[in-house]
This record gives sequence, C-alpha cells and structure tokens, in this order.
Amino acid sequence: MRLFTKCKSCNSEILFRNSSNTRVELEMDKGESISLICSHCNKRNDYVVNEIYTKPSKILRISGTLFFLTGTPIFAIWMYYNVPREAFFHFKTGFMFGLLAVPLAVSQILSNRDRVRVNSFNNYYS
Ligand SMILES: [Zn+2]
Repeated sequence: MRLFTKCKSCNSEILFRNSSNTRVELEMDKGESISLICSHCNKRNDYVVNEIYTKPSKILRISGTLFFLTGTPIFAIWMYYNVPREAFFHFKTGFMFGLLAVPLAVSQILSNRDRVRVNSFNNYYS
C-alpha cells in the first residue's frame, strides 16, 4: 500500500510503496529503520516504523462516489424493466429508498474497509 512519512530535513511528505499491512510486517520486511530519500530535498534519512503511516485511499473514495453516481441510475433502469408497474406504484417509497440505499451501502462498505486498513496500519505498533 501507499505509505508516508514526513521528511526530517524539509518536512515535506515522502511517499513509498510496500506490501505490508501493519507496522509489524513493515519492520519484519525492512528492519528497525527504513532509509528513505526525500524527493523534495533529496536528503536521505532513516525512519523508524512508528514514523511511517498510511492514509485513506483517494482513488477508493472517488470510485465510491462514482459508484454511487452511476449505480443509482443503473439500478433505477434495472427496476424500470424488472419490477412490475403495479408493484412499483404500490411500494413507491420502498423502491425510492432502495434506489438510494443500495449504491450508498456499497460505497459505504468500500470506504469502511479502507478505514479498517488505515487504522490497522496506523494503530497497531507502539
Ligand atoms: Zn525533504
């Protein structure tokens, strides 16, 4: 995943990639200190795992929003062709609710899973 730390020389954010899901895994992979070069000031510094953190995925948040925006009309079209007219008029409120709730639930699940990922990395090691 995308991991970050603050440069000790210029305080800008350094980004690097690693397959570790927790700080413990990161330490097993890289050792107690990780040597990173800042892309802003080009200085090399050593960082301990507790100085490394991750952030919520921007891509996941955007795709969650996109899913909500595209999923809603697609679901509406699907209902238009698959739900009998009489049933639709009879349970209008229920369908309207489902129309919003289903894509919203999916995008919520995506963002919750991402939050769990971020928390498990950032909180595990002390
Ligand atoms: Zn720097």
